[in-house]
Amino acid sequence: MGTSVNIFEGSQVWVEDPVLAWIDGQVLKVYGDEAEIQTSNGNVVVLNLSKLYPKDMDVPSGGFDDMTNLSYLHEPGVLQNLATRYELNEIYTYTGNVFIAINPFQRLPHLYDAHMMEQYRGAPFGKLRPHVFAIADAAYRAMMNEEKGNSILISGESGAGKTETTKMLMRYLAYLGGRTGTEGRTVEQKVLESNPVLEAFGNAKTVRNNNSSRFGKFVEIQFDEHGRISGAAIRTYLLERSRVCQISDPERNYHCFYLLCAAPREEIEKYKLGNPKLFHYLNQSNCYELDAVSDAHDYLATRRAMDIIGISEEQQDAIFRVVAAILHLGNIDFAKGQEIDSSEVKDERSRFHLQMTADLLMCDPHALQDALCKRVMITREEVIKRSLDPLGATVSRDGLAKTIYSRLFDWLVDKINVSIGQDPNSKSLIGVLDIYGFESFKINSFEQFCINYTNEKLQQHFNQHVFKMEQEEYIKEEIDWSYIEFVDNQDVLDLIEKKPGGIIVLLDEACMFPKSTHETFSQKLYQTFRVHKRFIKPKLSLTDFTIAHYAGEVQYQSDQFLDKNKDYLVPEHQDLLAASQCSFVAGFFPPLPEETTKSSKFSSIGSRFKLQLQQLMDSLNSTEPHYIRCVKPNNLLKPAIFENVNVMQQLRSGGVLEAIRISCAGYPTRRTFFQFVNRFGILAPEVLEKNYDEKVACKKILEKIGLTGSQIGKTKVFLRAGQMAELDARRATV
Ligand code: ATP
Ligand code: MG
Repeated sequence: MGTSVNIFEGSQVWVEDPVLAWIDGQVLKVYGDEAEIQTSNGNVVVLNLSKLYPKDMDVPSGGFDDMTNLSYLHEPGVLQNLATRYELNEIYTYTGNVFIAINPFQRLPHLYDAHMMEQYRGAPFGKLRPHVFAIADAAYRAMMNEEKGNSILISGESGAGKTETTKMLMRYLAYLGGRTGTEGRTVEQKVLESNPVLEAFGNAKTVRNNNSSRFGKFVEIQFDEHGRISGAAIRTYLLERSRVCQISDPERNYHCFYLLCAAPREEIEKYKLGNPKLFHYLNQSNCYELDAVSDAHDYLATRRAMDIIGISEEQQDAIFRVVAAILHLGNIDFAKGQEIDSSEVKDERSRFHLQMTADLLMCDPHALQDALCKRVMITREEVIKRSLDPLGATVSRDGLAKTIYSRLFDWLVDKINVSIGQDPNSKSLIGVLDIYGFESFKINSFEQFCINYTNEKLQQHFNQHVFKMEQEEYIKEEIDWSYIEFVDNQDVLDLIEKKPGGIIVLLDEACMFPKSTHETFSQKLYQTFRVHKRFIKPKLSLTDFTIAHYAGEVQYQSDQFLDKNKDYLVPEHQDLLAASQCSFVAGFFPPLPEETTKSSKFSSIGSRFKLQLQQLMDSLNSTEPHYIRCVKPNNLLKPAIFENVNVMQQLRSGGVLEAIRISCAGYPTRRTFFQFVNRFGILAPEVLEKNYDEKVACKKILEKIGLTGSQIGKTKVFLRAGQMAELDARRATV
């Protein structure tokens, strides 16, 4: 949306730049619809006028707190404003309805201290500098005053600061809704201590973030009629299971494994652990330690957090026994057995780990070996035990490890929920959503598909809300808004989740049909969506498919989709662990109802996730939302580096620019009558001479300059996109 009409010789403009995203410059000459520009790094470029964006010359040196104050709400203006502020350690900025938080990658202790919390408590919104506390405070006030649930939706890519922001929000809400002077395990303490426990079991070091959450989380904090925290519920989404047995350098497995290896001596001895380098599930990567983190310290801290939450000593021992068992399980190797295509436990060392695993899980070592190396086949005539070859046994072992770990994680979440307790009489609530942002990598599989599906859902929610807010402002100001077009991504959602015929349904069908392969699945997709405008078959692949998401196109590799969509517990594993002498372990595997064991054993992860998402959307739809977009300023995870192109990409995929686009469809620029007369009175000096009331003066000025489409509300002048630039240009020629 260049604003070509207003470019003159001498105009200050932004032009696109491959390295900096945008660079400023001055127009030297205009010929026809082209202009010659001298950029601030000394180059001279010739560009079409439509590629030029006017530069806002009225930005204060520290940037604007709220970007809607920019005269021109376009990409370069937004980017420049954020960069200016980041340099001054102003990491928070508003853009109308969206709150942007840029990861400082350094501790800013004063920003979050008790004094700061005190200042924001009850302060009118917008009075103080932008801050997460202001968002939490606004949500809390709105909840109390309007008796309506509020929610805070935090998004952003891995390492952008979602979880840290969530923790700050929760700390502030605990401060507002806590009981002063009470000792011991209060509800709010339990809520806060749930974070380190979930992080120990659900977070890991990845290349993108040293403490990456490998699950999505929605925390619902309940309040009583006095505004005090009275309960909470935590829901989690899609824990990454593959990490338990497969990691790549320089990442790590889940923190809890390393914590346990750094536990006090007697525990190490009890579980026969030791150096993490000895364990296959950990030594696939060369990374064992994290900068500035002590696993030994964190082990004790996790134990303490468990104490506060109310996980008993006995349960804690059982939890870590299971963690140790998984490490030993991973060290059981298999060799070819005596019969063809069979396998046996490889050597003395593997037999030791088999024995340890069985001891820790309190199950029979022979039964464990059988469950790993054999499968029971039930035909119409007989029951046959079939052997697995060494590779099959290894797959079976890893499957068992993943199943146990994910059940352990689910148990922890349940336990935390039970222990914090729900308040059935809660007056109102604030939900906080910390969920993975849009992902587009070289290789995108089922996980990215689910994650991007989530983001499409949230984007729709966001669009609808921002649009509604815009309308409300127009109604309040009594202006005509009937023609505004609503941007929607329903077509992508239909492609993914429609019944019948969406990708998830087709995937489930493929999973249920024994002869399906990823090739047949892909063929089916190509046929079904041949003309869908959000679906593309890549030219150079026979099995990949591309979806045109709101944030850009993503090419998915379909080869693992079928396997990853199947949540299938091997009956041998189920039987083995259900028979454990340890009630904690046996409790993970409640007996299945008779009919599910016989009929289809397939349960679809995609469909279950779709249902969970629908429930999440239902919860969110009953609340007043607040949006936080976290931005990662660089991929080095270092302070003070602001990479323009990188940030731009995130603003695009985070929907920030989409929000701007929506508001640009309406009246993105608003000025109070006073501001307007002040700035543009010069265009109609005769109006200023008469002593008109401000509103009348605005009307006269607009009439004189003949600007069409702008409107006069009750307190403000509303301008269409680009009109501010037009007026400024005229002002410059007076
Ligand atoms: P993921 O999706 O991988 O879970 P995330 O968005 O949750 O990523 P965080 O774990 O919150 O990212 O942040 C990554 C790191 O950035 C933190 O471990 C911390 O070092 C730093 N960080 C984030 N926010 C802040 C902040 N407000 N102040 C100081 N450091 C921060
Ligand atoms: Mg996180």
